Amino acid sequence: MGKGNTALKKGIGKRIKSFIMAAAVAFSALGPVSSTAEARSVSGETIRFNDSRTITDYKYSDISYNYAKLLQYSLYLYDANMCGTNVGNRSLLSWRGNCHTYDKAKYTLKSGKTIDVDVTGGFHDAGDHVKFGITEAYSAMVLEMSYYTDKAAYEAAGQTGHMKTIADHYAEYLKKCMVLNDDGRIEAFVVQVGEGNDDHNTYWGAPEKQPQSSGRKIYFADAKGNYSTDIVALSAAALALHYLNYKDTSSLTAARKLFTFAKNNPKAVNTTAGSFYASSGWEDDYCLAAAILYQITGTESYNTEYNKYCNTTKGNNIYWALSWDNTAPVIAYFKNDAGKLKSSADVAGSHISNEGYVCLLDWGSARYNTALQYVGLLYDKVSKTSTYRNTEEAQMKFLLGNNSQKQCFVVGYNAYSPQYPHHEAASGYGFSELDQGTYPMKYSLIGALVGGPKSDGTYADTADDYIYNEVAIDYNATLVASAAAIYSGHIGESGQTVDSKYYKDNSDPEPEKLYDVRKMTYKGVTGWYYAPEGKVIPTFNGFASNKSGWWYLENGKVSFKVTDVIHGKVKGKTGWWYVKDSKVQFVDTVAKNSKGWWYIKKGMIDLTYTGLAKNENGWWRIVKGKVNFNCRGLVKHGDDWWYVRDGKVDFTFEGISSNSYGKWYCKGGKVQFGFSGKVKFNGRTYTIKDGKVV
Ligand SMILES: [Zn+2]
Repeated sequence: MGKGNTALKKGIGKRIKSFIMAAAVAFSALGPVSSTAEARSVSGETIRFNDSRTITDYKYSDISYNYAKLLQYSLYLYDANMCGTNVGNRSLLSWRGNCHTYDKAKYTLKSGKTIDVDVTGGFHDAGDHVKFGITEAYSAMVLEMSYYTDKAAYEAAGQTGHMKTIADHYAEYLKKCMVLNDDGRIEAFVVQVGEGNDDHNTYWGAPEKQPQSSGRKIYFADAKGNYSTDIVALSAAALALHYLNYKDTSSLTAARKLFTFAKNNPKAVNTTAGSFYASSGWEDDYCLAAAILYQITGTESYNTEYNKYCNTTKGNNIYWALSWDNTAPVIAYFKNDAGKLKSSADVAGSHISNEGYVCLLDWGSARYNTALQYVGLLYDKVSKTSTYRNTEEAQMKFLLGNNSQKQCFVVGYNAYSPQYPHHEAASGYGFSELDQGTYPMKYSLIGALVGGPKSDGTYADTADDYIYNEVAIDYNATLVASAAAIYSGHIGESGQTVDSKYYKDNSDPEPEKLYDVRKMTYKGVTGWYYAPEGKVIPTFNGFASNKSGWWYLENGKVSFKVTDVIHGKVKGKTGWWYVKDSKVQFVDTVAKNSKGWWYIKKGMIDLTYTGLAKNENGWWRIVKGKVNFNCRGLVKHGDDWWYVRDGKVDFTFEGISSNSYGKWYCKGGKVQFGFSGKVKFNGRTYTIKDGKVV
């Protein structure tokens, strides 16, 4: 695969290291990077918050903090990472299409019956394409929480529809992962699709083109082993929240079944994700699902289960920032436990950089930073105070560019955003280019939160660095959540508006992307292409449509140069269609192709027509749909008869012409039925009565 492989192999260690470091920081109270809060830049001003934290404000005049736009943009990472058979229709990004449509397996039930399990759908984990159960469930849960706690922000920013599409896509996937027996009970649950090392080693490229051979194994949790209580329970929590948000009763039923499955099986953390996502406990996820289900249903058995495990080390205990490995802060929200939420917000502790940035871990620091932001704002909600609002907002401002490097960490947000996020689908290139790190990316990964800076402030915007510059569904989940929570405090303020170029509820009922012909950039050329599922099909020749009409495409592209009458299928009707500047013209006219000139009725040749018909050049004699250039004489049209020469009505003709009824006097090309008298023509004098030569 070339030397680019080396760059990818570095990526394999990503979450191994991530986990080890997380554990080290969490349990050994590593000292702060710096607690002196000395600003690195002389231009910055130190701001002190009432929780005694400080941050440096650089007051850049060209960086604005528009949280409506941030919320709007941040949802797009889910369009970029969407997987399955309906991505072409669902994703708002034109460069994404259906992928991994082969994510299917067989499972043999206890009864001996083998059934087909279809787990197409869900979201790719990060810059790669594996579907890890823990981050699927975690990001679904956080997004649902965000909508649950900050619905007003979504409504104000016109993002309810976009969020629902994403939430539905998650919920559908989690339900597909449930393997049900004939009694409707869960016998197995799919906890992973694809294998981390295989995926990272064997393929870098568009998800739409990834071959099944590059490691799309499907892993089940069942009574036989691989219990994955963490994933099963967290999936139950996400589905229960989906019910809370959208009153989708099938999601509540699924959540209850999943919880029962987790409860009845032996309890253990998932191991198939290996070092990529090695969860340190399942108790928090189990307690979270129990807490939410108890709140929804009031069923005492959920509370009993909650009480059984909540006081264990990994139960409702805050042992790390809100993350796929510690969901206890969300339990605290449902238990109205302000104290635990405060402990979680204060996990930041002394992990503060010189400039005041909360950096729990150098690897993907921004994900923990945004998670702590959200939890701080959850504390404010539960405690009905504004304890953390300014502090957390200042952290978000840092991520948007208010730092000594003037570096924004959200793709596309402003002129200081990352240009080279580590993301296969958006890159549009293969192994060798990846090694360059700053090879121009084909598509913009709008709204993606990259890993972020290290505690010493260093950061490199390069695609081959998965520490600083990878993106992930769990990273963006807390970006979305914090953006919504911050925006909810700024609704209606000036400068807090969404970008009209991107999704807004009811703004465009017919988005361009639903059509087969779309504006895209293909092989470096921007144009209108045949891309029914978001992917250009360069072999396509024929007719296809978009919002503006029907187009004739050659080699997958509209040239805007074709004027012809072409055979094909338009609006479901096969025939010969009149095309002008590559667009089908649904008009009545006379038009030509290599076989002649033809009568066109509503865009299509009408071979049944005989008579006269016009185009911009005049009126023409049509016989069975085709212009007859040999015709000379009188032709009836309506109540009139017209003089035709070489197939064309001659409006200048004055004189005598004939048909089978006799000879007639014409003027202006037309028989003059109102005329009686004498006329001279070709040296002869004719006597006319009512137009006819007598
Ligand atoms: Zn996929």
